[in-house]
Amino acid sequence: MSDTLLTIIVPCFNEEEVLPETTKRLQEVLNDAIEENLISDKSNIMYVDDGSKDRTWAIISGYAKKSDSITGLKLTRNFGHQRALIAGMETARRQADCIISIDADLQDDVKVIRDFLIKYHEGYDVVYGVRDKRETDTFFKRNTALGFYKMMGKLGVEMVPNHADFRLLSKRALDEFVKYQEENVFIRCIVPLLGFKSTKVYYNRSERFAGESKYPLKKMLNFAIDGLTSFSVVPMRLVAYLGGIFFVIGLMMIVYILVRHFTGHAVTGWSSIILSIWLIGGVQLMAMGVIGEYIGKIFNETKHRPRYSIEQDLYTGRMEQGGKTMTPDVFGRAGVTLCDWT
Ligand code: UDP
Ligand code: MG
Repeated sequence: MSDTLLTIIVPCFNEEEVLPETTKRLQEVLNDAIEENLISDKSNIMYVDDGSKDRTWAIISGYAKKSDSITGLKLTRNFGHQRALIAGMETARRQADCIISIDADLQDDVKVIRDFLIKYHEGYDVVYGVRDKRETDTFFKRNTALGFYKMMGKLGVEMVPNHADFRLLSKRALDEFVKYQEENVFIRCIVPLLGFKSTKVYYNRSERFAGESKYPLKKMLNFAIDGLTSFSVVPMRLVAYLGGIFFVIGLMMIVYILVRHFTGHAVTGWSSIILSIWLIGGVQLMAMGVIGEYIGKIFNETKHRPRYSIEQDLYTGRMEQGGKTMTPDVFGRAGVTLCDWT
């Protein structure tokens, strides 16, 4: 029997429609992996309810009561996908030997979890699930995503293209990951920074099993801008370059203006003045916007607010009852502070 305790972390935001099917499929995968001796029979699925408004938590806690291999974490409100995942990772890290994060909507192929585990046993600390084809995504989503990866690459941010948040992390990698206590979290950019031995597993991404995407265009755009400005200062540098260019143009203008002055053509110039007011005004506003974006980030970082708050933690309670010793949490606390799983 393998003694690798795997926790599959599934963030859920209003996912009542997909939970039954997701649970069925994940449970199958879990059972198969246990039978194959890839993981221990204490392995489990942890649903993180990210402040859902529907019956998601009722369903999760119902499953947790019935099955030993299903547990849940309930956040106090909607914190967003990334934070829900972090909440799950920081909680699971205290018990699990490795974790796999996966979306609730079954877009990622659960069958490759087995490949993840095989790679883990081969000694990889990080295994990325990478989408082979994106046929099932809309034309728009596919191309905006591609553009985003390209731009990030150009700006010097290392990312694994076509990899979302479907990955395996070993306990070792998790222990390093929790040290990244930044407010503006973009997990998929942090993981490559950890620097552990990593590999990729390819799979086909299918359509959402049921329900709607919780990532409308506005959220996607915010996600992209956040990712960019949290990991790269290149936009700020570009603004500085732009300033440089305008300075050079300004110098040339001095020569031009002097020439005009001494040749007696000084009064004409309405066009150039109006043009510069608009152009330079626009550039200045834009520059302030970019700088403001970074100041906003600093503002948020300096507050050191908690990144999520947990209302109910079924995972830790169950583990303690199972007699497992706990790794101290991110704040160095050893015992359980929140547990209610009855
Ligand atoms: N999700 C979440 N909190 C949010 C938004 C989404 O926990 O505020 C979860 C959601 O339940 C799903 C995953 O994040 O498990 C990915 O969301 P979705 O499938 O809607 O995104 P898409 O695949 O369309 O990018
Ligand atoms: Mg999805």
